[in-house]
Amino acid sequence: MKTKRTISFIALAICICIAGFAKAPKYVFYFIGDGMGLNQVVATQYYLRSCKGELGITPLGFAQFPYTGIATSYSGDSDVTDSAAGGTALATGHKTYNGAIGVDLNANPVTSIAEMAHRSGAKVGVATSVTINHATPASFYAHQKSRNDYYAIGTQLGTSAFEFFGGGDFADNINPNDHSAPQLYDLTREAGYAIVRGYDEYKDLKGKQDKVLLIQKEDAVENTLPYAIDASKKDLTLEKVTTAAIDHLYKKNHKKGFFLMVEGGKIDYACHANDAATALQEVVDFDNAINVAYKFYKKHPKETLIVITADHETGGFTLGNGSYALNFAALQAQKASQAGFSRIVNKMRHDSKDNVTWKQMQKALTEYFGFWDTVQLRERDEQALRSEYERSFTGEKNVKMAESLYYRDEPISALAVRILNRIAMVSWPVGSHTAAYVPVFAIGNGAEQFTGQMNNTDIPKKIAKIADYK
Ligand SMILES: [Zn+2]
Repeated sequence: MKTKRTISFIALAICICIAGFAKAPKYVFYFIGDGMGLNQVVATQYYLRSCKGELGITPLGFAQFPYTGIATSYSGDSDVTDSAAGGTALATGHKTYNGAIGVDLNANPVTSIAEMAHRSGAKVGVATSVTINHATPASFYAHQKSRNDYYAIGTQLGTSAFEFFGGGDFADNINPNDHSAPQLYDLTREAGYAIVRGYDEYKDLKGKQDKVLLIQKEDAVENTLPYAIDASKKDLTLEKVTTAAIDHLYKKNHKKGFFLMVEGGKIDYACHANDAATALQEVVDFDNAINVAYKFYKKHPKETLIVITADHETGGFTLGNGSYALNFAALQAQKASQAGFSRIVNKMRHDSKDNVTWKQMQKALTEYFGFWDTVQLRERDEQALRSEYERSFTGEKNVKMAESLYYRDEPISALAVRILNRIAMVSWPVGSHTAAYVPVFAIGNGAEQFTGQMNNTDIPKKIAKIADYK
């Protein structure tokens, strides 16, 4: 009799124990490195180690998470996805056509896990380092046939009623097709959001507002956050946006928890421009943002799940150039992005009344790329720089801007980056997306589900199941 009762007690204890472990995580973080293929991750690790003058890798924080997998990224109408179809797949679990935001192949709206989380009572945040109505963040709150309808996407930010949004700014705050239409800022305020500019303004709210849109200050150079390599101390960073998001969402709801998506959007921008040093700094920046979530996880390990992946790879980033070596240490010499150096060149033109001398240009190239100083140039490279200088700055000033998806840069800036990439022994076959595998990393409650090969659409389905989003 006594034994029977003991067995029943043990069985009950096991049941309680299993139920306890099976409890869904309350806090879910979903990090998406836009354009961050496997090589973008491992290259950053080689780079960090090479800065110490050693061979091998220095692991990034998120690359040490215990569960890793790989995912395919093809879209519903192409093996090579764009960020809209990629974002929609990661947000909703549906493959769709390139260009689609939160709609399926027939352009019918499909529900995102952010919307499901919200419906289930969790507070929701969507954050990015690019514009808040850009493809990836948009896929979590909007439903539009075309990613290019930034204004229409922006109008859906307020109607989502998610508790937190953060990023650079809006794209198309004013409707380009109807200037008399209300501005996105006004629509967002009418929907009950406090729009705060910069981290200090966010802190000043002291949690009084239910819904917040955090963007950067009016004097920002672009409507995205600056590249990490170009940023100054006063700039808003993805790390700060993530800190604010957690602070806000946690304050607003301890009971049902939160879902937070954070996009490292400018990894992709840098890879479209084939700018290796800038891309690697963006991956480090993304890791810094993830580290904020990791610190949160350390305080709530059983209640938190963190998943990291990418929407696709960008640039076909190749590590090696045929000589069985890498020279990533050379990338340390680069002190501005291709776009940032282009702005510096532009200012030189302005300050000199368009009479930039070769000596001034050499000085700038030394300062921002280490040329003729820590980085030795071949005669051919020096000649190429000199010829580009002659073409762009003397005589007819025939400036053929270097076009990438998001920037039009001074050709001498693009050339300097190309030369440094060659010296670092990396190359880029394309300036667009590729169909390469993307990595998946996970830690926390349910993280063991994210191993092996999966489809990008499996990831949100797994998250919804683990977190019990309906
Ligand atoms: Zn993308």
